[in-house]
Amino acid sequence: MIYLDHNATTPIDDRVLDAMLPFLTTFYGNPSSLYRHGRVVSSAIDAAREQVSALIGVQPAQVVFTSGGTEANNMALAILPSQAGLAVSATEHPSVIEPALQLKSRGHELAMINVDANGLITQETIDEIIRLKPGLVSIMLANNETGVVQDIARYARQLREHGIIVHTDAVQALGKIPVDFKQLAVHLMSLSSHKIYGPKGCGALAFEKGVTINPILLGGGQEQGLRAGTENVAAIVGFGKAAELARIELAERSEHLLKLKTALENGLTEIPGLTIFAQQAKRLPNTLQIGIHGIDGEMLLMKLDKKDICVSSGSACASGENEPSPVLTAMGIKSDHAKSAIRISLGKANTEAEIFEFIKQLKSLNL
Ligand code: PLP
Repeated sequence: MIYLDHNATTPIDDRVLDAMLPFLTTFYGNPSSLYRHGRVVSSAIDAAREQVSALIGVQPAQVVFTSGGTEANNMALAILPSQAGLAVSATEHPSVIEPALQLKSRGHELAMINVDANGLITQETIDEIIRLKPGLVSIMLANNETGVVQDIARYARQLREHGIIVHTDAVQALGKIPVDFKQLAVHLMSLSSHKIYGPKGCGALAFEKGVTINPILLGGGQEQGLRAGTENVAAIVGFGKAAELARIELAERSEHLLKLKTALENGLTEIPGLTIFAQQAKRLPNTLQIGIHGIDGEMLLMKLDKKDICVSSGSACASGENEPSPVLTAMGIKSDHAKSAIRISLGKANTEAEIFEFIKQLKSLNL
């Protein structure tokens, strides 16, 4: 199998699994228990919190563990004060768009922040948002489909000067490009473990001191009272280890990914009618979204699947209907062209040989 869908999820790193296993077997105590068998587990969570906070340059007390990026995004939007409006970029992940729409249905003003043809937010749009003065703005750092990286540091500084709380979904950027909480000047940041070779079902919300979090899960007071529920210890330990490895290996990984992506782009240019979406924008080193004129992306995905190659299509097929990707639609891409999209997202274990094989197989389909 050639796995080229790392933005969907990544395999667990062996070193991460090794770190997790003792917490599924020997150290099964409840971290809230006061005896030693519990305290050992609680210390492991503390260590993981340090590892995750070190990756983004915050204090451990600024990190609350969640069940993943989705919960972190929901929690971030839940801080919105009553009466306040919010603004989210049109290319956000559904775990931002859906809670934003729910807030709208409950009476909050919702503004969509448009992007240009390259998927980038513009200064003019930010100026407009500042005039609207929402309570909260959510802009993702890197897009899961196109890999487009927004200039969060620049916009967050402007927005916070006007008293606006800024959240960024850094789920896809983490482990691929440097992600520094302070440098990005945001108040809130969402992270996910399974995109950085950690286990699924674990993530975190990082927050600036002084920002009031409204817990969405109430109960036993775990996670500084911000996220109740007995901790998913092994997953948290795994997330911590994955974060530590991402920090140590970041430069090496992104260099490797960029080399592969360049080889991929060079090979793809030989295919007639092929477009690379958001080609002019700064993008993640591992992500390439392409469309081939007149070819249905989902059909292409299935053909590649028959050759044991995993990629993702750009369409939202959850509803069973072949709708064009809202991300590409927001970029002004016509429906037919958007429906031709497939996303190739590379990972640290991919090789140049796999890239060449992928290009060979794609060409052999005689599209
Ligand atoms: N945000 C982005 C940009 C994502 O790509 C994803 C996952 O696909 C999420 C949030 C959700 O993260 P999780 O799968 O950990 O809930």
